[in-house]
Amino acid sequence: MGVENKQRTERGQESADGIPESLSLDEAAKIIGNETRIRILLEIGKAWDDEQMVKEHLPYSELKQRVDVQNSGRFNYHLEKLVGPFVDQSEEGYHLNVPGRKLYRTIVSGTLTDRAGIEAIEVGRCRCDGELVMERHSGHFCLIVCRQCEQKFFAIAFSPRGFEERTSAEAIEAFRLKFHHYVSMFRESLCPNCDGRVNAELTDSLDEFWEGDYWEEGYESEVRAVFWCSTCNTFCPCDVPTVALTTPPVRRFFRDNDRDPRLCHDWDDVFIDAEQSVTVLDVDPIEVGLSFELGDERLDVHLDNDFRVISSRRHRS
Ligand SMILES: [Zn+2]
Ligand SMILES: [Zn+2]
Repeated sequence: MGVENKQRTERGQESADGIPESLSLDEAAKIIGNETRIRILLEIGKAWDDEQMVKEHLPYSELKQRVDVQNSGRFNYHLEKLVGPFVDQSEEGYHLNVPGRKLYRTIVSGTLTDRAGIEAIEVGRCRCDGELVMERHSGHFCLIVCRQCEQKFFAIAFSPRGFEERTSAEAIEAFRLKFHHYVSMFRESLCPNCDGRVNAELTDSLDEFWEGDYWEEGYESEVRAVFWCSTCNTFCPCDVPTVALTTPPVRRFFRDNDRDPRLCHDWDDVFIDAEQSVTVLDVDPIEVGLSFELGDERLDVHLDNDFRVISSRRHRS
């Protein structure tokens, strides 16, 4: 499972042609493809950041001084390119508008600037008893993989900033939490990347959605959840227990048994058992049942194709 935005098959692309920005990609690339403009954007962003949203506006003279461009004509030329699409101008000075802040955060989080790898971090033992490690791929994309059986577990965008000021254990926890919240938002039809509406369904033929075999390895169940956003092309295939962990009855069941459902890993016994318990209860559309066991209790959950809980029952075992 993982959040990606490439390699989609026809089905996903049919409705994937909408670009939400009023600015064309070509125009946006031209505007930000210049170092001086990036520096201007960073300085305006920092002024807002440093003062914790108190001093949002940076006066012209201060901005020019901070960016350190001597030639006023050149400085003005670049600044004007940013005003409108990424920067707003008022009597008090310059500040970032919403797209400008998004771009600023993207740059600051290291997504665009830091391509250096972080060493693989050991996260636990796989179900094959091999060593599980968290690895960084293509700069900002992290996944958890088994060094022995090579099974890949959840993968999402996680920026280099996520590893700073955190121990390895804390970084893994943050990574897991982020994934849980992503899936939670997907289940509520809300795209965490663009705020658009997310399409969701249970499927037993992932090929319809996904060309690669990347996510096919090592799954116990035939049935998987898929989420996709037609606006920003986010695509996330995901196993059923991970989705179920975001539903109210499962969360309550975990809390009652002193476990944090957000930090239940794919390689934990309760997760493996839940994955093996996934049963198809209806086929068109697909509905599934699965069980979680903690302590001396078992929770049976029935989910429909929109990931609504149709029923849940707790038993003493
Ligand atoms: Zn393994
Ligand atoms: Zn989206």
